[in-house]
Amino acid sequence: MSSSNPTTEPARIVIAVDGTSGSGKSSTSRGVADRLGMRFLDTGAMYRAMTWWMLSNDIDVHDADAIAAAAGKPVITSGTDPLAPTIALDGADVSVEIRSDKVNAAVSPVATVPEVRARLIALQQQEIRDALAAGSGIVVEGRDIGTAVWPQADLKLYVTADPAARAARRAAEEG
Ligand code: C5P
Repeated sequence: MSSSNPTTEPARIVIAVDGTSGSGKSSTSRGVADRLGMRFLDTGAMYRAMTWWMLSNDIDVHDADAIAAAAGKPVITSGTDPLAPTIALDGADVSVEIRSDKVNAAVSPVATVPEVRARLIALQQQEIRDALAAGSGIVVEGRDIGTAVWPQADLKLYVTADPAARAARRAAEEG
């Protein structure tokens, strides 16, 4: 993605982006944030980081009680530059680990545990408040942003694409 200097004042708004997998919602979100001089938050990366922590600490991802008991422990830090988003776990970069097959297979059961959702939603709300307090807007990508995380979002987008484009994009991402 090419860098572009915003030509207008940074937009101090919250944009919630959801969509189907393979629709290009992530690159669209980052591009919009870059063009408008806004921050970008990938909430899926936060669920993935939580999942990687559980796997790394030998917690059974199908044991909801064990996941719930540990949900407060990982320190998850998101870097919100749309051109170079980062994700750290207990201070260490885990941007490669969170895209592993192990995490792909385990993230769904972890993300359904209410204690996980409550913790990450609170972190996401804090990121949004921090952005607005700093005079910046933020594009937040994820399934529940416009409903649970920030229902008052200024704009709520749902990105989709036709099945062939989605299949091609998913194949490219996996390859
Ligand atoms: O968007 P991404 O594929 O990285 O998200 C990984 C998984 O994290 C999703 O499949 C979903 O299980 C979970 N997730 C969620 N709520 C969000 C973002 C992601 O439950 N806001």
